[in-house]
Amino acid sequence: MNIESKKDVMDVLAMPQTEFWNTVAVEAKQLHRSENGNTLIATAMLGFDNICKNQCLYCGMRASNAAVERYRLEPDRVLRSGEIAAEMGFRRIFLISGEDPKYGFENILKIVEALNAKDFFISLAIGELSKNQYVELKNAGADEYVLKFEMSQREVFNRMKPSTDYDRRMKGIGWIKESGLELASGSIVDYPGQTAEQLAEDLLLTRDLGISWAPVIPYMPAKGTPLALEGGSGSTEKNLKVISMLRIMMPRINITAQQPGKDLSKGLADPQGNLDALNAGANMLFADMLPDALARNFSVVDNRITLGLDHIESMAREAFMSVQF
Ligand code: SF4
Repeated sequence: MNIESKKDVMDVLAMPQTEFWNTVAVEAKQLHRSENGNTLIATAMLGFDNICKNQCLYCGMRASNAAVERYRLEPDRVLRSGEIAAEMGFRRIFLISGEDPKYGFENILKIVEALNAKDFFISLAIGELSKNQYVELKNAGADEYVLKFEMSQREVFNRMKPSTDYDRRMKGIGWIKESGLELASGSIVDYPGQTAEQLAEDLLLTRDLGISWAPVIPYMPAKGTPLALEGGSGSTEKNLKVISMLRIMMPRINITAQQPGKDLSKGLADPQGNLDALNAGANMLFADMLPDALARNFSVVDNRITLGLDHIESMAREAFMSVQF
């Protein structure tokens, strides 16, 4: 099936769910099997700092959200988590934080160098940086950088992310690619007020960016945020269609399978949500390296909840996939 135009995407979005599962999802899953060997990629994830200077309208960690208890893990503690992840068998690590200018870029470089010495594939999501900083990260041994565009319409982006602007974001995305880092990017699916046409535009931009990983999830409201007052969770059904379309448009990329199911209280580790995503063509799950007490406060969305390696292995068994570390 060809998914190339806005109309192609909108046709799939409008398709009855049974037809989607019998056609688009089957093709997406088959493509993953033929192109990538049906592997489920397991990644250790560490939200090492939940302090953020920004005010994104949808994010629980926005600077003015007093409901969140803030923490910042020292570099030594981050590296200890890396050691534990290595002992558990992980070869990939994803470090994520709010935009915290006080963490110190030198500390980030030291962490990356130390993890690189342990042969990790290192993905980072620490916000917008200068052109030179992406190059320094690459030189220190980072492999991939996550900078989502979240919404591809300039005016919507500028409203939702008032601490930055669309042109700056797109310039940053270009710098990441120029630095030689792999680019992970994508959008929020089905946030309040989003039209099918806007969602289709987001998918086409994701394709055009030449990404390595699509960290896609549906909109999930976070308490204490302005956008939570405008509407509830995004449709998990639409999100599964997005996953399959991304797989068909870009067979070799990684796609997040850490997805919610119908019971949102189970967060992103809902076995049914994860399994549906794997069966729709997604291929990547995360084990949270944060202690539970802190994980509750890494709250970009409510009920974020991810689980450990046992969960990843059980999902792989149920989806008849092999785990790749
Ligand atoms: S989405 Fe990122 S940059 Fe925006 S408030 Fe949340 S943590 Fe900060």
